[in-house]
Amino acid sequence: MKQYDLIVIGAGPGGYEAAFEAADLGMKTALVERADLGGTCLNRGCIPTKALLHAAERYREIREAALFGVTAENAAFDPALMQARKREVVSRLRQGIEDTAKRKKVDVIRGEGVVTGAGQVSVRGTDGEESLHAENILIASGSRPAVPPIPGIDLEGVVTSDEMLEWDRPVGRLVIIGGGVIGVEFATIYNALGSEVTVIEALPQLLPNMDRELGQSLKMLFKKRGIAVCTGARVEAIRRDADGALWCDYDAGKKESVPADVILVCVGRRPCAEGLFAENAVPETDRGRIVTDAHGQTGLPHVYAVGDVTGDVMLAHAASAAGRNAVRHMAGLAPREDTRFIPSCVYTSPEIACVGMTQDRAKAAGIDADSRKALMTANGKTVLTAAERGYIRVVFEKQSGKLLGAQMMCERATDMIAVFTQALANGLTVEDMAKAVFPHPTFSEAIGEALRA
Ligand code: FAD
Repeated sequence: MKQYDLIVIGAGPGGYEAAFEAADLGMKTALVERADLGGTCLNRGCIPTKALLHAAERYREIREAALFGVTAENAAFDPALMQARKREVVSRLRQGIEDTAKRKKVDVIRGEGVVTGAGQVSVRGTDGEESLHAENILIASGSRPAVPPIPGIDLEGVVTSDEMLEWDRPVGRLVIIGGGVIGVEFATIYNALGSEVTVIEALPQLLPNMDRELGQSLKMLFKKRGIAVCTGARVEAIRRDADGALWCDYDAGKKESVPADVILVCVGRRPCAEGLFAENAVPETDRGRIVTDAHGQTGLPHVYAVGDVTGDVMLAHAASAAGRNAVRHMAGLAPREDTRFIPSCVYTSPEIACVGMTQDRAKAAGIDADSRKALMTANGKTVLTAAERGYIRVVFEKQSGKLLGAQMMCERATDMIAVFTQALANGLTVEDMAKAVFPHPTFSEAIGEALRA
């Protein structure tokens, strides 16, 4: 039986970052993975979506470049080549993880890991079964797309994000069930590629987990771009008619039907917690997610869990930070990263990003909060690039000026939100933040403007 200080099950961003942190702290570490290194994020999530989005946006920009005095005739795209480029990006990054594991002397073990007892993991691979033993075990087994029990959900042409990311043909009419982060990103990609896109969301707004104003602004922008948006609409059935055409039937106060070539189901994700534990070693779960304390510890001694399998904030950087912090806890060290402030990013055009509290949430928590807002309309970089209008809102405690959160809808919002995350993690006030001079002409100037507003 091989002996380790730490065995990590799952090599997504939660698992491989935890393994690398452990190796840096001198722990002998095994990283068990049944599929590809990089997990959902690298193979079926963050990176492939953004690679396709980048390509789709270039196509849109070329078509709209006449505004800048640039014309290109016969602009076209090839979905198969876009897929090839995506695969190249993913494979280069996967190789990077493999090389880092080698350099840090982390043993990558291929196969399905099961916790069989205290400190024991059995790995079933193509070459048979192997038993490993360690002081600590960390579960980072991730999540998979949720598939709702809608009649017709199994029909051909109805897909989840996993299959959509492999799609290598043009799509005429795309219906997206679910207007959350993943749904609106696919809507942005296929709208840029010229598809007819409809988004159907059961709740009253797009991005239901975010600030109301962001959801409303995105709906307006989508409509302007020609994306049909139906909020407060419940999908009742998917069917094929006698001619073989695919339809999505929904109720939005009255019964409606929309035709589709592809129906993409994006209604959330389910933690992958089944089959990970032998009967004698099962931690507490709650609606399928593994329950942990603030350090990532499960109810089982020396067994930790991080990332999507804990059903916490289902984001790659949240999983990575939780993984690194859990390993530091195993080593008796304080956490380095403050996971109270996890930025959320949406890669629409313009981008959306937020961190910390909205003014509504602060008020609901009994905090006397105020906010300041800068519109992007007067921002030089926004005007010269003909970017869509947007805004930056800063929320703070009225009396002390302490920053509580920020919401942004503007170009590069997903990069610029880091400024606010840094300030929140360090307890800064808006006046502390306003000391910084922002360069001109940049989108980031609007941060300074919002802080001084
Ligand atoms: P995962 O990345 O899911 O990795 C889990 C790994 O564990 C998998 O490789 C799996 O094969 C392995 N595994 C499971 N069980 C076993 C077992 N028993 N034995 C061995 N191996 C096992 N997040 C962002 O932050 N930014 C984004 O832009 C973003 N975009 C996304 C777009 C899409 C379309 C999707 C679906 C997700 C996106 N996410 C994004 C979410 C992000 O991908 C996840 O939050 C992140 O991957 C979770 O990391 P994880 O380590 O918890 O699990």
